[in-house]
Amino acid sequence: MIKKYTKCRFCNDNSLEINYKNVDLLKQFISDIGKILPRKVTKVCLKHQRKLSTEIKRAREIALLPFVSDFYK
Ligand SMILES: [Zn+2]
Repeated sequence: MIKKYTKCRFCNDNSLEINYKNVDLLKQFISDIGKILPRKVTKVCLKHQRKLSTEIKRAREIALLPFVSDFYK
């Protein structure tokens, strides 16, 4: 089939590193209110989506990214 559409942007570009310190990158995968965007929106593969959510949660813990709600603070 059309192979390039099945691959996510992280699979296509090895220079993109999913890291909690890479806030600018992580911000592209959260919504305006700070929720992690679903895979059908981001087109990221399952492996990288898991990694993304782990790193986003880590970034939230050290306050690099906002929580969904202030309730949890
Ligand atoms: Zn991937």
